[in-house]
Amino acid sequence: MKNSLAGQCPVCAMEVESSQYQTRYHKMYFHFCSEQCLETFEAMPQFYASGAAGKRTPVLKHRNLRLAGPCAPEELQVIVARLREMMGVTEVCVQGDRLQVSYDLLQVKLVRIEQRLNELKVALDAGWWQQVRRGWARNSEENELANLTRRVGACCNRPPPGA
Ligand SMILES: [Zn+2]
Repeated sequence: MKNSLAGQCPVCAMEVESSQYQTRYHKMYFHFCSEQCLETFEAMPQFYASGAAGKRTPVLKHRNLRLAGPCAPEELQVIVARLREMMGVTEVCVQGDRLQVSYDLLQVKLVRIEQRLNELKVALDAGWWQQVRRGWARNSEENELANLTRRVGACCNRPPPGA
C-alpha cells in the first residue's frame, strides 16, 4: 500500500514509499527514502526544503583515501558493497591500500563516508599528510555546502513545489 503522504525524497529525488523517515520543517512534513537522506536534510533543511536539490546537477567529488593497511579480499568486498549502498555514492574502487570513492556532495559527504568506514572497522592512514588532506577535504565540502545554502536563502523563501 502506498502511503499518501509519501512522495519524492527531497534529498535524492527517489520515490518514497513509506513514512518511516520523516521530519517537520516550517510546518511541513518531509519524507525520506533513508536515514541517511533524513540526516542530510537536517544538516541543511533550508536548502533541501526549497526544492533546490531536485533542480541541481550533482556536485561530484572524487576522493582517494589511503587505508592504514591492505585488507583481505573478502573484507574489501564488504567495504565496497557497504559504501556503494550509501545514497549518493556513485563509484567505489579499491586497489591495494587505495580506496577511490566518487559521490554527489549534495547527498553524502566525506565525513559520512569516514563514519561508515569507522563502523566497518576500516582504519584510514593516520599519517600526518593523509589527515591534513582529509581535513582539508571535509572543510572545503562544508564551505561549498554553506555557499549553496546561502544562495538559496538569499533568493527564495517559498515553500517547495507541491507543498
Ligand atoms: Zn533519499
